[in-house]
Amino acid sequence: MISVNRYKCGYCGTCVAVCPAGAIELVEAWIEIDGESCVECNNCVKICPIGALEVSDESKK
Ligand code: SF4
Ligand code: SF4
Repeated sequence: MISVNRYKCGYCGTCVAVCPAGAIELVEAWIEIDGESCVECNNCVKICPIGALEVSDESKK
């Protein structure tokens, strides 16, 4: 499960472009991640220039 640190995110939209599943949406000044569509490729985590996307371990429990 990917989550956005809203204090860090600059809403540049870079992560939206690299998501192969179309799971990330930039809604005005808000990033939304659809956890159901996410295939956990971690592209977005790697591409975010400021490390605002974080992988939470909840799904592994
Ligand atoms: S790449 Fe990072 S800073 Fe840019 S919109 Fe995505 S989460 Fe925010
Ligand atoms: S981990 Fe991959 S599929 Fe999931 S939101 Fe990020 S880019 Fe999209």
